[in-house]
Amino acid sequence: MLERIRIVLIGTSHPGNIGGTARAMHNMGLSDLALVAPRCEPLTADTVSRASGADHIVHGAHTVESLEQAVGDATLVVGASARSRTLPWPMITPRALSDRLPAELASREARVALVFGREDSGLSNAELQRCHAHVHIPTNPDFSSLNLAAAVQVLAYECRQAWLGQQATSGPAEAPPSQPLASHQELERYFAHLERTLVAIGFHDPATPRQLMARLRRFTLRARPERLELNILRGILTATEQQAEHRE
Ligand code: SAH
Repeated sequence: MLERIRIVLIGTSHPGNIGGTARAMHNMGLSDLALVAPRCEPLTADTVSRASGADHIVHGAHTVESLEQAVGDATLVVGASARSRTLPWPMITPRALSDRLPAELASREARVALVFGREDSGLSNAELQRCHAHVHIPTNPDFSSLNLAAAVQVLAYECRQAWLGQQATSGPAEAPPSQPLASHQELERYFAHLERTLVAIGFHDPATPRQLMARLRRFTLRARPERLELNILRGILTATEQQAEHRE
């Protein structure tokens, strides 16, 4: 189960935080690290020093250019956020995330990605809107932002608690869903197709977006569609596009 949880760091600027993250992960039995467009050299003396023997995690990390590449195969994407944003999104506590993990990872195909933001500016709204849910570590509201590696530590600990709980009982808490869930990549293709179609039929004007796509994203992500269901929706979009072309 722990092998199918990925820690994703976006735009990290301090190598020490990458080392600290590796240590936190290895302490808790996680090993899958992805670095999205790091703003520093990931492997420096600082990294090795803060990793305290877990630098193999950094050696094995995938460095990619976009969030898309880091979480494309994930069936649940959770963004860690120190503060709330303009359009409220489903929020979960670290403990609730822990409780959900065994069922989320019951199927072999399932992958969970936990996404962390930049030291100075966190995650952008666009990045947060690509997540199924946001997790906030409850902190002093007057001083809510944890050090990046410390935030990873808290969530990695919750992942381990979920795994230990599962070891104690014999199997996953719930039966896996009968159909595989859509992956992040499949969802993003659907959103792109949806936006194209809404523009083509004159329902959506990208010049005055009124948060339309963000609201549709939130609605769709909340439903956790299966791959098959998403294929039906894409079929409807294709038929709609064809009808629109006919009329022109
Ligand atoms: N100054 C930034 C915070 C950056 S801290 C801001 O205002 O958004 C770096 C990252 O650590 C954050 O992007 C987030 O992923 C994680 N983090 C820090 N504190 C957190 C908290 N209380 N809950 C959840 N994630 C947190």
